Amino acid sequence: MSSGRREFLKLGAAAAASTALCPYPVFARGAAPKVVVIGGGFAGASCARALRTIDPAIAVTLVEPNPTFTACPFSNNVVAGLRELSAQQFTYEHVAAAGITLAGTSATAVDAAARSVTLADGARLPYDRLVMAPGIDIRWGALPGYDEAASASMPHAWRAGEQTLRLRRQLEAMPDGGVVVISAPANPFRCPPGPYERASLIAHFLKTRKPRSKLIVLDAKDVFSKQRLFQQAWAELYPGLLEWVPVSRGGAVTAVDPTTRTFVTDFGRHKADVANVIPPQKAGRIAEVAGVADRSGWCPIDPVTFESRLEPRIHVIGDAAIAGAMPKSAFAANSQAKTCAVVVARLLTGAAPSDPKLINTCYSLIAPDYGISVAGVYEPSGGQLAEVKGAGGVSPAGAPRETRAAEAVLAEAWFRTITAEVFG
Ligand SMILES: Cc1cc2nc3c(=O)[nH]c(=O)nc-3n(C[C@H](O)[C@H](O)[C@H](O)COP(=O)(O)OP(=O)(O)OC[C@H]3O[C@@H](n4cnc5c(N)ncnc54)[C@H](O)[C@@H]3O)c2cc1C
Repeated sequence: MSSGRREFLKLGAAAAASTALCPYPVFARGAAPKVVVIGGGFAGASCARALRTIDPAIAVTLVEPNPTFTACPFSNNVVAGLRELSAQQFTYEHVAAAGITLAGTSATAVDAAARSVTLADGARLPYDRLVMAPGIDIRWGALPGYDEAASASMPHAWRAGEQTLRLRRQLEAMPDGGVVVISAPANPFRCPPGPYERASLIAHFLKTRKPRSKLIVLDAKDVFSKQRLFQQAWAELYPGLLEWVPVSRGGAVTAVDPTTRTFVTDFGRHKADVANVIPPQKAGRIAEVAGVADRSGWCPIDPVTFESRLEPRIHVIGDAAIAGAMPKSAFAANSQAKTCAVVVARLLTGAAPSDPKLINTCYSLIAPDYGISVAGVYEPSGGQLAEVKGAGGVSPAGAPRETRAAEAVLAEAWFRTITAEVFG
């Protein structure tokens, strides 16, 4: 084991201890404190559950319009025909059984002064603390030609569900010898290694099902997460099939034409048989409506409390938050959710929050039996969440195939564990 990995494990244990769900005493108080959580994804549902575990006296309401949550991690396997969408779907039955009140509709407004959330049905929910975890929205129109209608012919599949199946069906219908083009956005965006995992699994699909085809990744960046490991594996598994075009070689897409599935760059045009646009993103729209998103479209937070820097008593977690060095991942969202729950429970009792340590691990599959990972530990530093130096690390370069196969198994185990913890 490398010293970096050893240090990660040590710090990971410390991080787990600092965010552990150790119950705080329930202080004598009048009415039960009310916490409203907006968004029932990896961040929101996890935070709601952690709050109930920490202090069952807190009245927690989770606002989420969808009766079923569809998870993005492993949705690239669905795209590549390696898994069914149903394996990605989870109900809120167990969340409700944990004593959380479910408001099965959208939040449409937040009145920070009056401390209330307005729902789509007109009801108002008062709160003592509000946790916002609305995930992402697509910046429609930020890429010229790419509006919501365009996502029918050029799916993004960056929110799992119907879009995931649409992309898969297009790949299945494409004749052998076709050209698939994926465009990857500039940072920041949901799941930094996600476009490259998707490219890998689509390449696997093409190699095994349509071997005369070609896959081009047009990238708005020159560097990306786990790049060396991805590129080594591509050379080994998909030579001549997968071409990655960085921004310095003309990868930046400046416009798309959905009628012809064409990507326009400064260096030329790429016409695709299957076109996957991973567009620029921002925090879920309600964040903007609530006034907690800044001009970047994301939500600035205090790294100790996750409290919005723009509105008091509102905490923002998950993809919507500006979490410094922490990537926008389900693992990170879950880690932030537990930390935030501890902080909110403490603040409700008048106790001071303590500096947290948070962890993240992102697994990626390059083939069904070829996994790699990157891990990190984070702590507040200089007003942001910064990576703890020397902690974390990536899978070793040049590892044998058994190691890659073992990481693929670990990836799957991680998904089962996190979804069982949040929704099970
Ligand atoms: C292809 C792909 C692969 C990925 N793979 C991985 C992986 O392997 N590992 C990993 O850790 N991460 C992965 N991710 C990233 C992961 O999916 C996200 O980081 C994670 O879902 C973020 O959690 P969240 O709770 O912030 O947002 P979400 O999980 O998107 O949840 C947000 C919730 O808020 C709800 N909501 C939005 N607006 C409102 C409103 N107004 N009122 C009420 N509810 C609202 C939504 O309905 C949704 O249920 C992947 C992402 C993609 C796209």
